[in-house]
Order: sequence, then C-alpha cells, then structure tokens
Amino acid sequence: MSQYDEETTILMCLPVEGDHRYIVPGSVQRQCEDCGALVWVAPSGQQLLIESSAIVVCMNCGRAWAKEQPGDLEITSKQIDEIKEWRKRN
Ligand SMILES: [Zn+2]
Repeated sequence: MSQYDEETTILMCLPVEGDHRYIVPGSVQRQCEDCGALVWVAPSGQQLLIESSAIVVCMNCGRAWAKEQPGDLEITSKQIDEIKEWRKRN
C-alpha cells in the first residue's frame, strides 16, 4: 500500500466474511481498497469518510500496512470503543 502518502487516513474495518457475533449497529458494507473484500464500516467510520478522504481497508490489509508504517495509523477513540465492544462479544 505504498501508493498512499502519510496524510491518508486508513480506516480499518472488520471483514464481512467470518463468524462475527457482533456488528456495530448502523454499520454499512464497503469494499477494502486494497484486496476488494467486503467489510463493515461502523457509524464512526462512516463519519470519518465524510469528514476526510479516508481509505477503507480490511483488518488484514490494515494490519500489514500498520506494520510497514508504524505510528501512522489513525484510530479514533470511538473506533477503539467499538473494537473493545467487539472483542467482548467475540
Ligand atoms: Zn483487504
């Protein structure tokens, strides 16, 4: 994902595929910009997409990207809450 500069906000989303017992209410499906997999975009993420030119990626692509660019990954506190909530239920 080296084509993205450091100004780019990466929005990591849960893949639709797989056994997820918890999806944030109000989530919508989008495609990962990197691999094309369907992902859930939570309301906080949808807001981010409206406010900035954020790029939607799945957890797998986002994780790989974060490894390459440590510290550049932007996660909002709302997203952290959603991830915590998701972890509790999975
Ligand atoms: Zn992906």
